[in-house]
Amino acid sequence: MLDVQNIRQDFPILNRTVNGKPLIYFDNAATSQTPQQVIDVIVDYYSNYNANIHRGVHSLSQEATDAYEQSRLKIQNHFNAKHSHEIIYTAGTTHGINLVANGFSSLLKKGDEVIVSALEHHSNIVPWQMLCERTGASLKVIPMNDHGELILSEYEALLNDNTKLVFVNHISNALGTINPIEKIIEKAHAVGAAVLVDGAQSCPHIKPDVQALDVDFYVCSAHKMCGPTGVGMLYGKEAWLNKLPPYQGGGEMIAEVSFEKTTYAGLPHKFEAGTPNICGGIAFGAALDYMNSISFDAIANYENELLDYGTSELLKIEGLKIYGTAKEKTSVISFNVGNIHPYDIGTILDKMGIAVRTGHHCAQPIMDFYKIPGTVRASFMFYNTKEEIDTFITALKKAVMMLS
Ligand code: PLP
Repeated sequence: MLDVQNIRQDFPILNRTVNGKPLIYFDNAATSQTPQQVIDVIVDYYSNYNANIHRGVHSLSQEATDAYEQSRLKIQNHFNAKHSHEIIYTAGTTHGINLVANGFSSLLKKGDEVIVSALEHHSNIVPWQMLCERTGASLKVIPMNDHGELILSEYEALLNDNTKLVFVNHISNALGTINPIEKIIEKAHAVGAAVLVDGAQSCPHIKPDVQALDVDFYVCSAHKMCGPTGVGMLYGKEAWLNKLPPYQGGGEMIAEVSFEKTTYAGLPHKFEAGTPNICGGIAFGAALDYMNSISFDAIANYENELLDYGTSELLKIEGLKIYGTAKEKTSVISFNVGNIHPYDIGTILDKMGIAVRTGHHCAQPIMDFYKIPGTVRASFMFYNTKEEIDTFITALKKAVMMLS
């Protein structure tokens, strides 16, 4: 059992008002809120040991380096990576995907095939399209059914000896579907293809074990899991990371530089050119500490309760349709009411202090599948409550009345 009222005290932003009403924050799938414990770590860094890392002999630089590398160990431990150098700090999920897509430019050729799923965020579509344009490889798509579930038999039919890579998200940001990535990985490996899993939406709710999954690459963003924006991680199996060329050139990623020839640093530094988001990396570790102190099992149980309650209350509203009715689902509810445009609902809810997301959620192919311009999306985290859902339902009913 979570002590939600106590947990809410950790999030100063939850005490504010918006348009004169107490804030109800249901836009967690876009960005989660930050607890005081993580804010304190950020303030402490800039107040006490702000310095560039890895290159200074002075105390501040060493303190910052220690904290940054300590955080890498926390990330390694959290995701159960075999080696800490398999954890690459990135600016977020998008950066991690582009890093891998860029690396595969030199490994793919015409005739090779890569597979994405119909449920992807644009971040996990566009970099692979660009990769295919660069290399002449072709892009295949795993289709989905009306519930927003991937059709695995169709996936199996797409796999063959030419398949080199499979990209799939662990959880869909637009619909909340939890994809059967264990099976997807196993089938891809059976034809010798590597798999990248986009964990942007899974990491806030579950604790992935990259070794148990046997996944080749796993990416996520700290800002979806109580950490700051502008930082995330790429996990890659050591053997794959050694095969990929560096993404960007610059300081920190080199062993020796001369005008004739430059040699690159070993992992993880080969992929970490330039001054990184030092404070962000340290705060990412603090966010993991915070979430682990609550426990991911307790978080998932409670969020499932919110999902069930929110779903059943929403379905009582006449004309409301939920998109994404997969059996395996996380606390994201995407819906429309009649022909009312989602932006209109979102705007009126904001006037009542309620933050939801409206639009295509960077997943236009999903909207095209349902032949809609977008949805209203309410996404819950462990600091949300059933009482907030009640207030949201009342406000939504008012909005629908005004707009009908
Ligand atoms: N993939 C998924 C499934 C997402 O939900 C998001 C963000 O919403 C991203 C990728 C991109 O994450 P970021 O903007 O942090 O790079």
